Amino acid sequence: MRISNARLRWQEDGLPWSEQFEDVYFSRQGALEESRHVFIEANALWSRWQQAHQDMGPDSPASPFVIAELGFGCAVNFLQTVKLWRRFRQAYPESRLRLHYLGFEKHPPNRADLRRILALWPELAPASDDLLQQYPDHSAGCHRLFTGDCQLDLRYGDASDSLEEIARHGLTAVDAWFVDGFSPGRNPAMWNEKLFMLLSACSKAGCTLSSYSVAGAVRRALDAAGFELSKAPGYGNKRHMLKGLLRTPVRLPRNGQSWFQLRPYAASAEETVCVIGAGLAGCSVAHSLARRGLKVTLLDTAADAMSAASGIGSLALRCRLVAEDNASARFYLQAYLHSVRHFSSLPQHETFWHQCGLVQLDEAMADRLQRHGQELRQKLLSLYDPAIIESLNRDRASQLAGLELNNGGLFFPAGGWIEPRGLAAALLAHPNIEFRGNSEVTALQQQAGQWLALDPGGNALSRSKTLVVSASAAMTHWAACADLPLEQVRGQLTHIVSSPQSEALKTVICAARSLFPASAGSHCLAASYHRHDDSLQCRQADDASNLQHARQALREPQQLGEEIVASRSAIRSSTPDRLPLLGPVPDLPAMLDIFAELQRDASLQFQQSGAYHKGLYVSAAHGSNGLSSCSLGGEYLASLICGETPPLADSIMAALNPVRFLIRDLKKQKPLRLTQR
Ligand code: SAM
Repeated sequence: MRISNARLRWQEDGLPWSEQFEDVYFSRQGALEESRHVFIEANALWSRWQQAHQDMGPDSPASPFVIAELGFGCAVNFLQTVKLWRRFRQAYPESRLRLHYLGFEKHPPNRADLRRILALWPELAPASDDLLQQYPDHSAGCHRLFTGDCQLDLRYGDASDSLEEIARHGLTAVDAWFVDGFSPGRNPAMWNEKLFMLLSACSKAGCTLSSYSVAGAVRRALDAAGFELSKAPGYGNKRHMLKGLLRTPVRLPRNGQSWFQLRPYAASAEETVCVIGAGLAGCSVAHSLARRGLKVTLLDTAADAMSAASGIGSLALRCRLVAEDNASARFYLQAYLHSVRHFSSLPQHETFWHQCGLVQLDEAMADRLQRHGQELRQKLLSLYDPAIIESLNRDRASQLAGLELNNGGLFFPAGGWIEPRGLAAALLAHPNIEFRGNSEVTALQQQAGQWLALDPGGNALSRSKTLVVSASAAMTHWAACADLPLEQVRGQLTHIVSSPQSEALKTVICAARSLFPASAGSHCLAASYHRHDDSLQCRQADDASNLQHARQALREPQQLGEEIVASRSAIRSSTPDRLPLLGPVPDLPAMLDIFAELQRDASLQFQQSGAYHKGLYVSAAHGSNGLSSCSLGGEYLASLICGETPPLADSIMAALNPVRFLIRDLKKQKPLRLTQR
């Protein structure tokens, strides 16, 4: 999951040269002019945005105009595009058109190098400053940023692999491609037929493409992928450049797991979406939808947001670590980085987001260390970039924490903790969100293409074509969600009075319990853990065990006082495989009818796609990892709802898809009983 950065040599004119590919990044005749000529103008961006804006009616889909670039490099093409986009927004302030930019890159420059490069072109500010502030320079996968009114997905990894990951789910529809790898002779991996087939499969009919290269092999490969090509005058000392138009995108064969196949969906740009449940998951989805211009009605039984498990105490932000490179590891890594970026970008985040770093002592992984030995630590350190975790001995851990600790462990330099009410206020401050507390939903009903959320009296609290369920335990009573497997986990946390010594604590410490730095004279100790227990009664035994475990982390346990200020308990929801339920809500009885034959032969392939409730989505069961998984979860659902390329690979979407349990059970020939039948 690590990547290698660009290795650059600086030329006399200050421009970078790639040591990996032995090639220049830009034309010496002028990088900005080249970018404008070869990419911006060749794809006629301004006139197409104008056209798209004029074509938008009240029922138009909320989907954006999509530009994708192979070879994001130093972001010059991106920043030129954003500059033009900002002018467009000024010219058409009422426009509901949005821009989504997908940047594919294998060796991103590190942040210092990018800063040095971008300093060459002060005219690219302020977008370049925006980008530098959020720019990730490590870790494979998709990093979603919001910069200059534009949504940017940086996909780090080999372009072919990244394209394959998004081509398979069939939800990507690019309007314009910038093909800007190093020259085909020096970098054939960026210009071959397989890659262009994937590119074609990720395109809209009518999509355009441009490149500075007119090499014969490139033209043949693009032609095979369906592009009508023409040569145009090139920039600088290049006589020609290439333009392409795609009338019919290539269709790729399904990957065999047709139950995960989703139909493209796009809410209309003026729709109001209902979200049920105002915990971390629901507030995050609401925020992601609202920033796309949709109106959101957010319902919750309680009077205030984050009144249940999400909001009873402090929440620690760290990355859930997985010791192999699989879908789960990639999801949590991407999600953690997304949360860090997202929280840091919210207004007044200093008041609720404390990015003080997080020390995870070995006790936190005691059973895994016992099973796998010290190789586990080495495995994790080899998989994750040092920006995610660093190894700590006891002295260093103590130094970082500001208190003498009993053990070493791992440090999450970008981690920290959140005060959930502050986060909720920042997420819900968006004018497109209407929060309605004291709104208990007891049933969902479908009527004339709309979802009705009904109160105990059978009255409709909301009617919407699109509805998101983020109310964990309650949703098991609603027919459409009744068979989603939820496990209840009771947790109790304890607030204790801080002591002069314990006030020195600077970071969050996660061991058998999490201990948070003092805030307003008390520490939060979180949390006891009881599976299949849904009692909200606070227990003395839980307070005692919270205190005992927290004290065990310290070399001088008495530094932590014993005076309890408050105890709170809540029920978190989880699933049998500990991954959340994220995606469209499957119609399980219909799925069972379609895929029942898997019980006879688990290797069967199907032509028919899965059956999903139209317009119904879920983000729930984030367990103890909600602070890291809900933000990206919200972005993912908002992308599905708005007909955008999701920020996740096909394999990750499958791992989170709520139908996974039914399919696994069928394949294992487990007896199935659906309450919906
Ligand atoms: N478009 C860039 C800009 O505006 O600054 C310059 C791009 S530079 C000419 C080519 C880029 O392609 C480099 O950043 C290089 O790391 C990237 N690249 C090369 N091979 C790649 C591959 N297989 N997958 C993804 N990116 C690749």
